[in-house]
Amino acid sequence: MVESKEFLKLILDTISEHIVVINDSGDITFVNRSWLSFGDENGCECNTQWESQNYLAICRSAAAHGDEFGEKAYTGINQVINQQLAEFYLEYPCHSDTESRWFMMRAVPLKLGKTDYVVISHLNITERKLAEQQVRELARIDGLTQVANRRHFDDFYSQEWSRCARLKHPLSIAMVDLDNFKSLNDNLGHLVGDNCLKEVAKLLSEFTRRPSDLCARYGGEEFVLVLGNTQSHNAQLLVTRFMTKLATLKLAELAGYPLTVSVGLATLYPSSCDDAMLLIEMADSALYQAKEAGRNQLVVADNIEPLNIEKCP
Ligand code: GH3
Ligand code: MG
Ligand code: MG
Repeated sequence: MVESKEFLKLILDTISEHIVVINDSGDITFVNRSWLSFGDENGCECNTQWESQNYLAICRSAAAHGDEFGEKAYTGINQVINQQLAEFYLEYPCHSDTESRWFMMRAVPLKLGKTDYVVISHLNITERKLAEQQVRELARIDGLTQVANRRHFDDFYSQEWSRCARLKHPLSIAMVDLDNFKSLNDNLGHLVGDNCLKEVAKLLSEFTRRPSDLCARYGGEEFVLVLGNTQSHNAQLLVTRFMTKLATLKLAELAGYPLTVSVGLATLYPSSCDDAMLLIEMADSALYQAKEAGRNQLVVADNIEPLNIEKCP
């Protein structure tokens, strides 16, 4: 019984990995039940004829349609067949219409008598991939305020700078700094201070909803807004609306500390040959002027003219 082919096949059918065995030409010689069920569940019409198909041809056809994983699988499996690799691993996405899925392919050689085979298994690794994605996402979010952190800002800003430079769009940056926050903390305690930071972040997020917008915590009690494809005029309207709404929230006002912000706003047409720090410095110095002028106000940096693209080296 234990030696019978049927018995061994039944064992392979209990395994949740999708298993397919091919010969050294890529012809499919065996598939297990998980493989067939997966094909059925995903509406694969050729499911009943798997054993007359060529696995390498399927990979090559996927590659020809621009699937980079088809290309990688084709190359890797061939390397196993040619004994250039002892085994081959590939993690690849296989999303359905309704869910995100990832699999890991493992291809190992199998010799039976004089015939060479390759056993290819596909393991569902969606749970791990989703956990990894979540960790990556968390690394980009500020723990206290739940808006983007400085790292995320750096990446987003540099992408948006390049994108606006390419499309000749204006880019606005607003530096938002809470006024006299040290005094609020000292008098009302850090928990009240933390809560104010959260409320301000929540409100700022409501004003930065477009894909080309971002609200990030720039430092302690300072936030930065990136407003891609936004003229100075529209950015000023947005910041003014935010400041008006903040005043209506009356944060910490009961304790005699109405929470206000100072904002420095700068806009320019980025150019790929300019330093992206320029706009941040402009917004920073406008913020400094807002503080100097008495706080609780918006100052707009002067230079909103398109930079001269001819000056690129
Ligand atoms: P200004 O109007 O000039 O900006 O004065 P300020 O007091 O807001 O500025 P300053 O730089 O002197 O102090 C910033 C304060 O922000 C000091 C620090 O206690 C507080 N702060 C920074 N990060 C946090 C935080 O995560 N939680 C709380 N509660 N307070 C913070
Ligand atoms: Mg401050
Ligand atoms: Mg500050």
